[in-house]
Amino acid sequence: GDAGVPGRVRVAVRLRPRNGEELIADADFADCVELQPEVKRLKLRKNNWDTDTFEFDEVLTEYASQKRVYEVVAKPVVEGVLDGYNGTIMAYGQTGTGKTYTLGQLGEEDVADRGIMVRAMEDILAEVSLETDSISVSYLQLYMETVQDLLDPANDNIAIVEDPKSGDVSLPGATLVEIRDQHSFLELLQLGEAHRFAANTKLNTESSRSHAILMVNVRRSLKPRDGLSIESNGNSHMTKSLKPPVVRKGKLVVVDLAGSERINKSGSEGHTLEEAKSINLSLSALGKCINALAENSSHVPFRDSKLTRLLRDSFGGTARTSLVITIGPSPRHRGETTSTIMFGQRAM
Ligand code: ADP
Ligand code: MG
Repeated sequence: GDAGVPGRVRVAVRLRPRNGEELIADADFADCVELQPEVKRLKLRKNNWDTDTFEFDEVLTEYASQKRVYEVVAKPVVEGVLDGYNGTIMAYGQTGTGKTYTLGQLGEEDVADRGIMVRAMEDILAEVSLETDSISVSYLQLYMETVQDLLDPANDNIAIVEDPKSGDVSLPGATLVEIRDQHSFLELLQLGEAHRFAANTKLNTESSRSHAILMVNVRRSLKPRDGLSIESNGNSHMTKSLKPPVVRKGKLVVVDLAGSERINKSGSEGHTLEEAKSINLSLSALGKCINALAENSSHVPFRDSKLTRLLRDSFGGTARTSLVITIGPSPRHRGETTSTIMFGQRAM
C-alpha cells in the first residue's frame, strides 16, 4: 500500500532485538531474518544457503527507536484523524515479539520508550483546542467474541451497533472518558491494564489471548473564516460570517491483537481450544478484510467477526489503516515468523 493513502493498508515490519535468553542460548545461531531497511526488504533464512526476500512499505530494524516507529507507522493515520477521517493502527505477531511495546508502552521510566498510543495522544492534544474541541476515549478487550469494557469491569458484554445508513459503528454501552491532558490519559491506560489483568485472571486466561482496543474520538469545531463578499452593487466588504462552525469528527482505533501463534490443536482441549478457535476466527476474518481491500474488492467481509465489525468504519473507504507486524530474531520461531510475514505480505 501507499503511504497515507486512504483505503489501502500500509504495512511495516518491526524486528525485536534479541532478549537475554536468546543472546545466550542462541549465541551460535544467526537470526532467522536479515533486514535491509534502505531498500525496505526483509530476507528470511530458509536454511544455510537459501533465503526468501520480501518487500514492505517500511522495514524497522531492532535499532529503530519508538519515535521513528511512531512517525512511520502512526503519524499519517493520526493526522488523518485530526482532519476528520477515521483510522486504524494494528499490531500483529506472535506473543513476545513486541506488539504491546510498540503500541502500549507508557514510558514511565524513560519517555523515549513511549509507544504509539501515548505519542498519538500527545500529537492530538497539541493540535486541538479544548475550548471548542473534545477528545473522548474508550478502552476495550475483545475475548471469545465478547466485548468487555476495560474502564468498567461490570460492563462485560457490550453490543456493537452499526448505523445502517452512515455505516458508523458505535458502542453505546462502553464507558467514554473525556481526556484533557496527557496525565489523565496515562492514568486511564493504567486503570485499563489493571482491569484487564483482573478480568483475565478471573477468566483463567492471559492477555495474549484477547485483543485490546483503544478508541479515541476527536471532535473539532472549526470556525469558518470571515469571508470577503461582493455586494450586488459591486462594493466589496468584509462580513462577519454567520455560518455555523464546521464540525469535524475523526476516530482513531488502536488494536493490540491477540498473539498469532498457532495453538497445537491436537494437544489442547476445552477452554484452550475454544480460545484458539475464537482467535483464529477473528484473525482470519481480519486477514480476509485486509486482502479484500488490497485487491480493491467490492465485497469486504466485515460481518464475519466482532473484531472486523468493530473496525468497519475505520478501515478502507476514506479511512487510513496501518499494520505493523512484529517478529523476533530467533531461528527457533522461524515457522511463526514465516506465517507473520505471509500475513503482512497478503495485506499489501
Ligand atoms: P507482545 O505484546 O507481542 O507479546 P511485548 O511487547 O510484551 O510482546 O514484548 C515482549 C518483551 O520484549 C517485553 O519485555 C518488551 O519490553 C520487549 N521488547 C519488545 N520489543 C522491543 C524493542 N523493540 N526493543 C526493546 N525491547 C522490546
Ligand atoms: Mg502484548
